[in-house]
Amino acid sequence: MTGERASLRAPWSPEQVENLNEFQRAGGMHPFTCGGEHESHRDLVATEGGWVCPDACGYTQDWAHWFMAEPEKWPRLRFPRREAPAGEGRSE
Ligand SMILES: [Zn+2]
Repeated sequence: MTGERASLRAPWSPEQVENLNEFQRAGGMHPFTCGGEHESHRDLVATEGGWVCPDACGYTQDWAHWFMAEPEKWPRLRFPRREAPAGEGRSE
């Protein structure tokens, strides 16, 4: 460890994947979007192997900001949550 927390490289743990995908919905920042060509933005979906495009266009990304996997470090929150994660016991 260098002490520098920059990017978080895939592969990710199931818990990190869950947090990254929740960040995409509720992290208080603009989500990561696909770099491929689409008529509108496609929010990337985290998998244990990295981000993938929900339209399966082939775009992938293998890093995230470290804080994206740590909900307690998310920027709070400039807009209300649009949807609560279903059935999860995570504290706010
Ligand atoms: Zn795409």
